[in-house]
Amino acid sequence: MWKSCEEILLPLIPQCLSASYALLGTHPFSRLDVLIVPSNFSSLGMASPHIIFLSQSTLSGGSHLCGTRLCHEIAHSWFGLAIGARDWTEEWLSEGFATHLEDAFWSAAQQLLADEARERQDLKALLRWQRLRDEVQNSEEDLQVLRPNKENTGKVTESGASVVKHGLNAEKTFMQVHYLKGYFLLRFLAGKAGEAEYFAFLRKFVWRFHGQLILSQVLVPISYFLSSDQLVLLLECLLEKKTLCSKTLECLQKTYHLREQDAEVRHRWCELVIKHKYVAGYVDVEKFLKEDQVSIYLLKFSTYPQHFRMRFLHLFHYYIPEPRAFLSLSRFFSSLKQFLQFVLSSNYCHGILTSLH
Ligand SMILES: [Zn+2]
Repeated sequence: MWKSCEEILLPLIPQCLSASYALLGTHPFSRLDVLIVPSNFSSLGMASPHIIFLSQSTLSGGSHLCGTRLCHEIAHSWFGLAIGARDWTEEWLSEGFATHLEDAFWSAAQQLLADEARERQDLKALLRWQRLRDEVQNSEEDLQVLRPNKENTGKVTESGASVVKHGLNAEKTFMQVHYLKGYFLLRFLAGKAGEAEYFAFLRKFVWRFHGQLILSQVLVPISYFLSSDQLVLLLECLLEKKTLCSKTLECLQKTYHLREQDAEVRHRWCELVIKHKYVAGYVDVEKFLKEDQVSIYLLKFSTYPQHFRMRFLHLFHYYIPEPRAFLSLSRFFSSLKQFLQFVLSSNYCHGILTSLH
């Protein structure tokens, strides 16, 4: 075994560590030992502060398995150890990142050219996709859900503990879903942003959240990378919500820079502003009505089903036949409210829709 360590593992350690430092910055711990454990260890590797456990099974058949596993465990120094999940149902924050970074570290450690690195990572993605697909098809749906507590994720019980779902379910131990769904999400974001921007973001991220327990929500700024269509989809999903508080809308605007997006995005943003009476956003509605071709959007919506928000916009249009001849907003909203109360309390809505279609 010593010979394998000397030939395979020892040259890999400085290469993999240097690659990780180049991508994420200084190692979060002052010392790192690597301990080889017997091949009947419960996994190929495990990370703890200052120490990585590597299974003896990684030391045969060339350096690939040893290198990738070493990179995975090194990545846990940042994601899983220096930064942890506040709720164990957020396990993907450790494993998704470690799985995604494993490829990047390993490509850098081997000093692959960009094209070759991409080809190898694509092949790895294909293998992982097959594994995830098999798991999704052959396991209980309940085991595949990453955030079962949804909006209660991160809430602790009176005893100070958070829930560990499937903690006693032996099947969960063999699931890859927390690794792979997280990995595919991060791969997608890195692809959208470009490697350089993605890693620049991660370096800031690991510096900002060092030593903290986090939830998925803190990753929202990554969504700067969302395309216009993705933002439209996001806002349309939010339009389905019955209530959204002003704070949420304020965060949404600041995070996605909605005022600087194209007219399709700003249009949905204006719908949200109107629906939730977000006063600070009225200025955006005013700008949209003055400067954008509202009637074009209304024409497009007329092909949609009679959904409430579409009706809302038709009413909007009906009430201001000429948007460019703009009314005082305060007057508009107070009278629109009265108008809506009238039409929504009767079947008059349908008549208006029919005439506008
Ligand atoms: Zn891991």
